[in-house]
Amino acid sequence: MIPSDLGLTEVERGEKCWHFQWRSRSDQATCPVCHTVSRHSAKRYTDHTVQDFPLDGKTVYHRMTNTRYIGDQPDCPVYPFVEPMDGFAVSGARLSNLLGAPSIDA
Ligand SMILES: [Zn+2]
Repeated sequence: MIPSDLGLTEVERGEKCWHFQWRSRSDQATCPVCHTVSRHSAKRYTDHTVQDFPLDGKTVYHRMTNTRYIGDQPDCPVYPFVEPMDGFAVSGARLSNLLGAPSIDA
């Protein structure tokens, strides 16, 4: 599932694939390393494309614009961090959890 703080801004239906464009509207995020919640957006964004389950016989690509946050934990090595896509994809992953997770037994 797409995290609820991502808003759909554009859908493009190609011959062989769907492109969904998402933009983050979050106002806080949890650092994936130190697990500290930050409300301080770095006002910087990271674009990232994740492939998901096919729809209607076409490959599905989600283009996400994720917010970077400035962590509150001074000892944390990731600074600023990109908000995690909880339950959808691991940070930096090219495949969604549905497609890529080894933990799913069909
Ligand atoms: Zn951190």
